[in-house]
Amino acid sequence: RAKEDEPNSHHFYDKEMESAIVRRLDLITDLKTAIEQNEFELYYQPKVHLATNTIVGAEALIRWHKGNEIIPPNAFIPVAEESGLINEIGKWAIETACRECARWQKIGMKGVTVAVNLSPVQFKRGNLPTYVFRALQQCGLDPNMLELEITESLFIDNADHVKQQIHVMAEKGVNFAIDDFGTGYSNLNYLSHFNASTLKIDMSFVRQMLQNKQQQHIVNAIIKMSRVMDLENVAEGVEDEQTARELQAQGCVYGQGYFWSAPVPRDKFLRLLKQHTYAA
Ligand code: C2E
Ligand code: MG
Ligand code: MG
Ligand code: MG
Repeated sequence: RAKEDEPNSHHFYDKEMESAIVRRLDLITDLKTAIEQNEFELYYQPKVHLATNTIVGAEALIRWHKGNEIIPPNAFIPVAEESGLINEIGKWAIETACRECARWQKIGMKGVTVAVNLSPVQFKRGNLPTYVFRALQQCGLDPNMLELEITESLFIDNADHVKQQIHVMAEKGVNFAIDDFGTGYSNLNYLSHFNASTLKIDMSFVRQMLQNKQQQHIVNAIIKMSRVMDLENVAEGVEDEQTARELQAQGCVYGQGYFWSAPVPRDKFLRLLKQHTYAA
């Protein structure tokens, strides 16, 4: 009797929950297949030295070729993180990016660096430095050519094993950048305890800095801070020339964004690299 009285909405809610779970499980199954079948590709976005308008490096950004679709990272990285599959995907990304960067060095593009995004999950097993070093060794890449991007959220619980692994890699010359800087954890204390080399100013501040004074002040403050702390800075999400000029006037050294190029497949990046200097 009581059962028959239950409102229908309850029933629908259960069905929705159920289908959300099924979708998530499907995605996990598809990701496992994607790993086995090599369905991932790294795209590369140029990092540009503002003063000379030259490419000094690239950020590797993962894409998933699922059938005829290209799936962007935001659509699968969170599930890859929850399921632990990010460990394998992330390891592949590091190996692939190192191999590509080693190739750039060999064909005369000396000093062009590569940046790879890391998930906090990749620090959990404790073997991150081991496979990073192996990846570097296998292709003979100088650790100084590799930059690993982490976010402020990694430091929320101030874990020793995280700091320790970063330290081991930084000792060997691997560089660390704080991605999306300014959007996360507001306690900056962590910056003084570990060897970051770069702050990447989040694009949410950069994209509107010409229209919005507040955003411009934030960008300016981050640039000043990076200089005082002897860190490099990169502005993300630079979409037009005026923003690039303004950033440079404020003391920003590097930029990334659609103004120069969206992330592109490795062959296309190589062509950009060969042109080397963007016509100013
Ligand atoms: P992110 O590391 O902050 O990367 C910057 C994102 O901004 C990229 O999106 C890039 O395509 C986009 N972008 C670059 N320039 C512009 C611009 O001028 N305007 C606008 N509107 N967007 C721009 P994407 O490739 O979709 O990547 C999204 C996020 O996914 C990345 O943010 C990163 O957190 C994550 N991600 C990408 N590849 C990997 C990976 O291999 N491993 C892990 N763990 N995360 C990854
Ligand atoms: Mg990044
Ligand atoms: Mg270094
Ligand atoms: Mg970012």
